[in-house]
Amino acid sequence: MNKLIVASHNSGKVREIADELKSHHIKVLALCEFDISAVAETACTFVENALIKARHACLHTGLPALADDSGLEVDALKGQPGIYSARYAGEHATDTMNNAKLLTALEAVPEERRQARYQCVMVFLRAVDDPTPLICQGTWEGTILSYPQGEGGFGYDPLFYIPKLECTAAELDLTKKNKLSHRGQALKAMLPGITDFFQSHP
Ligand code: IMP
Repeated sequence: MNKLIVASHNSGKVREIADELKSHHIKVLALCEFDISAVAETACTFVENALIKARHACLHTGLPALADDSGLEVDALKGQPGIYSARYAGEHATDTMNNAKLLTALEAVPEERRQARYQCVMVFLRAVDDPTPLICQGTWEGTILSYPQGEGGFGYDPLFYIPKLECTAAELDLTKKNKLSHRGQALKAMLPGITDFFQSHP
């Protein structure tokens, strides 16, 4: 079976990507199955951080690597937390801590000014020295609730409300979230390139 490494220690991300790729007969391995520590995300754009993570995973496993760098941009916070979404409340912040910080930051912001979006940049690196990485992007618009709602997903999902569906991302099942989300869109755009690669490298 075709195999790739997902360059992430975030089990929520890995679950979503693996679920989508299994129907394309691609087995996803996660970094946590190897003894590989996380690499520092030192750049200031999603795309550069995704490249850093993909290259690190490729280098240490020898497998083709798929990396996702993603985050939440909140208009009332001038696009923050953005690339710092995972570490918004500090270097080792949990989702609960990040969500609490976001709610505090938006305390005085009324409902009609709580627009936000998830961004995802995905990179597929065929080999560590691949000179033409595949790069795809997805965006998902929503608003930020003033209280958490729903038990699914991960990260900011219990606060990320989709007006059209009248629910949060944490109230969607995996399949529905993948259909709509920033990550699902980036992955959909990436799929032809990934399947082409495996067809030419059986
Ligand atoms: P990264 O691992 O550096 O790309 O950080 C991604 C961070 O963005 C996560 O830790 C979450 O805080 C946030 N994030 C990205 N995608 C999602 C999502 O689909 N749901 C909830 N939070 C997300």
